[in-house]
Amino acid sequence: MRELKVDLGERSYPIYIGEGLLQETGVMFLKHGIGTKSPVLLVTDETAGELYLRKVEDALAKSGYRTGSFIVKAGERSKSLSVLEDAVTAALEAGLDRHSAVVALGGGVVGDLAGFVAATYMRGIKFVQIPTTILAHDSSVGGKVAVNHPLAKNIIGAFHQPEFVLYDTATLKTLPEREVRAGLSEVIKHGLIWNAEFVDWCEIHAEKLLSLDPESLEYALYEGCRVKSIVVSQDERENGLRAILNLGHTIGHALEAVAGYGELLHGEAIAIGMVGSARLAAKLGHPEEIHAVTKRIFMKYGLPTSIPSHLDTEAILGAMMHDKKFVEGTMVFIIPTAIGTVEINKNVSTALVREIVEELKE
Ligand code: NAD
Ligand code: MG
Repeated sequence: MRELKVDLGERSYPIYIGEGLLQETGVMFLKHGIGTKSPVLLVTDETAGELYLRKVEDALAKSGYRTGSFIVKAGERSKSLSVLEDAVTAALEAGLDRHSAVVALGGGVVGDLAGFVAATYMRGIKFVQIPTTILAHDSSVGGKVAVNHPLAKNIIGAFHQPEFVLYDTATLKTLPEREVRAGLSEVIKHGLIWNAEFVDWCEIHAEKLLSLDPESLEYALYEGCRVKSIVVSQDERENGLRAILNLGHTIGHALEAVAGYGELLHGEAIAIGMVGSARLAAKLGHPEEIHAVTKRIFMKYGLPTSIPSHLDTEAILGAMMHDKKFVEGTMVFIIPTAIGTVEINKNVSTALVREIVEELKE
């Protein structure tokens, strides 16, 4: 097992990463001083719930905890205000009080929803994350929790840090292969923004990671969480540095929006976005090698590196500027200046971005 501390002063918390940790849930609750008198609400989705809810319930019961559960449909639509209301109903019915904890058992959807329940129920109660996707290494660090509004994603939210994160790598074995690749895209992103050696390591260990070798996974998730936690510790409320976590996301989000949510997974869209940012870097005078390495690594992970040709360039640019009638000008972009280092460039011309989008078409 590896342990990592997310350093946020009074709100600091540990992340435990290892194989078979679900069985330790109750023991970890006790270790973190969560009282056994108040009931715990387990929030999960149908898929993760079917696979792992029983195990977590049993582990908590063994340590003397009473639990209730709330199971949502899998998918982004469950991050909604109406599902939030149902979750609060479940919390009330289970008898949760100020000393209770809400547990997220699942991917980022469940994490964001359950975290927002914990942040708002009785003005905030304890929260524990048990992530079961690779992508959730990202959402389990940083304390951003939210639900969506029909007009905007993650627009109703809060900052609410968990008591601890329990990451059982054994749960990842049941993930569909496409989710594995897409999750690893964010892991590699953490290397690209911060740690060149880790990028090398990811390239060398691609096969091991894709086959979910426990030791390799443990290290990769540790390093991904570590980078994110360093960045978040320096900028908890997103006033500056935290923006570098958005490498590949300007193009990526636009592609997700234009393709229709679902055609491209988030991790796939940002892989294309990161290749685009590397191309931009070359046009801005940074080493060509950045693009070669970035593209090579995503190809190695079987992730897309070009924009599906049926997507309209102007629609993509419009989505990037959140405006269908955008004006030509400049925009903010996270640009790699070397492998493992990025800069926030506030002055990238839309004309150059258009050129890159065209070049990225397959
Ligand atoms: P997800 O939670 O929808 O999980 C992806 C799919 O995998 C779902 O169908 C789920 O049912 C299934 N699944 C989960 N665990 C499984 C397992 N062990 N075995 C088999 N199937 C399993 O999506 P995600 O990719 O984990 O997260 C995406 C969400 O995270 C988005 O809503 C995004 O906004 C959010 N997010 C939040 C932050 C943050 O900082 N809070 C950061 C990144 C992403
Ligand atoms: Mg992301």
